[in-house]
Amino acid sequence: MPKIIKQLAFFLSLTIFTNFVFPSEVNIYTSRHYDSDIELYKIFTNSTGIKVNIVSGKSKALIERIRSEGKNSPADIFITVDAGNLWKVQDYQLFTKIESKKVNQIVPKNLRGENNKWIALAKRARVIFFNKDKYDFEDLKNLNYEDLSSSKWRNKIAIRSSNNLYNQSLVASLIAKYGENYTENWAKGLVSNFSRKPQGNDRAQIIAVANKEADLAIANSYYLGLMLSGKKGDKQLSAGKKVSILFPSQNKYGAHINISGAGILKSSQNYDNAIKFLEFMLSEKAQRHLVNNTFEYPINRNVKPNEIMMQFGINFKEDSSVVSEFGKFNSAAIKLMDRVGWQ
Ligand code: FE
Repeated sequence: MPKIIKQLAFFLSLTIFTNFVFPSEVNIYTSRHYDSDIELYKIFTNSTGIKVNIVSGKSKALIERIRSEGKNSPADIFITVDAGNLWKVQDYQLFTKIESKKVNQIVPKNLRGENNKWIALAKRARVIFFNKDKYDFEDLKNLNYEDLSSSKWRNKIAIRSSNNLYNQSLVASLIAKYGENYTENWAKGLVSNFSRKPQGNDRAQIIAVANKEADLAIANSYYLGLMLSGKKGDKQLSAGKKVSILFPSQNKYGAHINISGAGILKSSQNYDNAIKFLEFMLSEKAQRHLVNNTFEYPINRNVKPNEIMMQFGINFKEDSSVVSEFGKFNSAAIKLMDRVGWQ
């Protein structure tokens, strides 16, 4: 056998051996609770041979775990929802830079953390819901978040409590744009327009509008997709059919956009695999899988939202605010919501 072939055979068997003893893997800590995410990771493993190990839990608990594990953390990637959570992990200096041309090309700059320490994997809009029986789109088309503090809406708005991060991020985004004084007055007005003491999750607010217990609700767009898909049962399907989405888009900012996203941890032992994983998550195939299961909006511009979401329009104006601002102003938002009695 020629020497070169012998050498090649040697290296090949060495590679197979090391892969067998030290399998190629990536360790993911995720606070996303979707079975469809697990299916997606399997597709990644099948196409790359890289095994995905998953630890799932609540965002807060996982962040604490990563902090206490420190340098010895097995986690390569942290996946979560809401830019506020990702900002927190970056603030604890637990992320390392994501170095990938592909990622940079696909993810717009406003949907990344400072110095590319984290990135968006999907978008979600926090929007206004109304009952189609009660309002025509034309009646409401000029409505903005700013208008929701007007006495015109006294006792008419359903929204969940202030300990919810989605609401904190919405308020933080207003603080970033208008400052604390304006936002505090706005929040005061909004609280006096609550149709009831804040209770339940986002879907509960949409259902309140369907049942005419409230005229308007503020909630994340994908929850209506979930209800209309039938995955949440017949009751929620018929409730979903009664409501529609208004994307506040007449103001200069547009609909509030938040993200699901991920970052690579400083302690990562599998950095290259982590990059491959993130690039996969932004690929057309993975993005299609994401939007068709969670009804979030895609980051990859070649992928369309799920059909259920498309019926509410896809050309709405998106607020292009830098989402890391939501983390920066989070504690100011919490204090402000407390001051105005938002329970
Ligand atoms: Fe959610």
